Order: sequence, then structure tokens, then C-alpha cells
Amino acid sequence: MAKKKHMKDKLHFNSATIHGGQTPEKAYGAVMPPIYQTSTYAQTTPGGHQGFEYSRTHNPTRKALEKSFASIEAGKYGFAFGSGLAAMDAILKLLKPGDEIISTDDLYGGSYRLFTKIFKDFGLGFHFVPMNNTEHISAAINDKTKLIWVETPTNPMMNIIDIKAIVELIRGKDILIAVDNTFASSYIQQPLTMGADIVMHSATKYLAGHSDVVLGALVVKELKLAERIGFIQNASGAICGPMDSYLTLRGIKTLHVRMQRHCENAAIIANFLNENSRIQKVYWPGFEFHPNHNVAKSQMKDFGGMLSFITKGADYESAIKIVERLKLFTLAESLGGVESLAGHPASMTHASIPKEQREKSGLVDALIRLSVGIEDVRDLIADLKQAIG
Ligand SMILES: *Cc1c(COP(=O)(O)O)cnc(C)c1O
Repeated sequence: MAKKKHMKDKLHFNSATIHGGQTPEKAYGAVMPPIYQTSTYAQTTPGGHQGFEYSRTHNPTRKALEKSFASIEAGKYGFAFGSGLAAMDAILKLLKPGDEIISTDDLYGGSYRLFTKIFKDFGLGFHFVPMNNTEHISAAINDKTKLIWVETPTNPMMNIIDIKAIVELIRGKDILIAVDNTFASSYIQQPLTMGADIVMHSATKYLAGHSDVVLGALVVKELKLAERIGFIQNASGAICGPMDSYLTLRGIKTLHVRMQRHCENAAIIANFLNENSRIQKVYWPGFEFHPNHNVAKSQMKDFGGMLSFITKGADYESAIKIVERLKLFTLAESLGGVESLAGHPASMTHASIPKEQREKSGLVDALIRLSVGIEDVRDLIADLKQAIG
């Protein structure tokens, strides 16, 4: 047994997705962890239980998922929540009134809303700066800074933030660095190995990967931090249920294979759009002319399945027409599922960010965002061709 465990600690990523932190279930040897649909556990005497007392605190299916999270992020302690935002909420509860957070000015709309509409009222201060230039981060750091919140690639402008440079910047300071790894997924980058303290996912996206579950993940490597997060997870109670834990665990088993195809298809589509005379600009970190291409190359294994573009003329109406004409790409919020989706950030995912603020970071009304799925890329290109005209 010990030998087997040792082997599982050293797995390569493409095996960790399938086996990481997992062993066949004890009772009957089930290879997949059963869906333990229970709120409570029998005790033989008060406190006499088998490690599980109440399902807000622990549930065996959720525990299996949390171990998988830790394994694919090369961390030690994983936590599963009811959504990506519930996971973020837990991180912010590590802070106290007066503490300050620095984040990027083209942050995911839901994160921005959580920061400015909920936690600002609890006395936390926020600075939003263009983080793809570390000088802006240095300028915003002061004695009250307690957390740097990184999202890379950013959504939907596809800016790349240099994780290692920020880790260097705050070395020796009492500041945590957390990375929202939703867009890249653990297949493409593992922020903890670059020195980040916390990695967060909306597992709703690539990790679960099939657009059938909403779930959030946190992974850390330090015991003290893990204990504080575990306390918040149990005390605040924003956990996910056993069925959703199971679905996410199942999704993760094919993460590496799906990601390879997402990346391949997105590269082909990015190049197709870039050569199309009706398109003005394509935002994809794989282009050599992308302003942060070198950082992308150094910290990412591949360039991911997401890209954004604007048409020539860059007007709102033509963008709306294109997303309405698409047939195989579904017009919908979210990303990271096997099927291709198109979105109009200004009116959908990023509507909660004021227009002036959106446009400062380049998020104009004409911007279209694609989550490139794993279909046959020829069908995806044909759909884009007919929609762009
Ligand atoms: C979707 C998303 C979130 C929020 O996650 P939910 O699971 O929807 O709560 C956070 N960050 C990014 C980058 C996202 O795309």
C-alpha cells in the first residue's frame, strides 16, 4: 500500500488527472468514488466516527475531489466550494477591515462585483491596475496591502500577467498572492509551482469541462493557510454537494486530453480570424505580436482555448449580428466546456463593470469572445465564415 501511495505522489500531470490522490473505495473496491448522498454519519459513541461527522465539514465524495484538485495543481490541500465565487469569497474572508487588495483592471466581472459591491462595504480597499506591467503593481503596494489577486490570461482581453515577477516583487512581505487559474486550467499552468500562495478555479469551466455543473476550487501548499481556509469553508458553509463533486471529478479525468484539443482548435481559429479581411483585431496570447507573448511562452504550456476579436468598423451592431448568426457556436455565458460558445462580454459577462472602466482596458462594445470547444475545427471555421460574412 505504502509503495503505491508513493508512486501516486510523483505522477506526471496526465496521470494525476486520473489517479491523483485517489485509491479504489474501501467497502467494495469501486474505482470511482461513490456519490455519498448523505448529510450525516453514524457514531458508535459520541465522537466515535470514521472521520466524517457532518457533510458541511467533510463528505467522502467531496474529499476525493479536493485531493484531486491538490494533485493537479501540484499543491497539498484542496478545497471544493459551491461555485468559483464562493471559493473567492472564502479567500477574502482571510482579510480584515483596512486591508487592501491589488488586482487587475480587466478582471472577470463577477470577481469585480464581489470585490466592489460586497467586500468594499466590509472595509476592504481595492486597487485595480493594468497588471501586465509590474510597475503598476509596485506603485499600488503599501503597508496595508495584504493580497494580490491575479487572473491570467485575463477575461476577455487575454492579457498575460507575469506570476513569477509578482512573486519576486512581494518576496519577504506579508502579502499573499492568489491566482485565478480558470482561463488557463491546471494543464497549462500551475501557479503554486511559480511561487503563488493560493490557486483558485471556477471548476465550472475547464476542470469539470462539460457545462453541467457550477463548482469552485482552492488549492494551497502551506498547512497554516490550509487550516484557515478549512475553518472558513466549514464556518461559512459555501460547500458543493456530492453529486456535483462527482461530476467534477469525472470531468478532471479527461482534462489533459480535452485541453490539447481546445488549444489546437483555438490556434487554428485565431490564425483564421487574424487573416480574415473583415476582422480588425484578434486577442490570443499565441501570436508573436501579442504584447505579453514572451511571458505567455515562459509560464504557459500552451495558449489555451479562449480568444476574443473585434470586426473592422468595430461597431456594436455588427458584433451582435455575428453572435446571432452563429449556429454551431452557442451564444451563452460561461466557457471551458467541450462545446464551442460565443459571448458578447460588454452585455453579458462584463455588464457589471461600468462602461468607462470597461473601455479603458479595451473591452469595447464590439468585442466578441469565443470559448473554442473540441469539435472538428473545420465545422467551427465554416460556422465563423458564414457568421462573419
Ligand atoms: C466563471 C468565472 C469565475 C466565477 O466562477 P463561478 O463558478 O461562476 O462562480 C471566476 N473567474 C473566472 C475567470 C471565471 O471565468
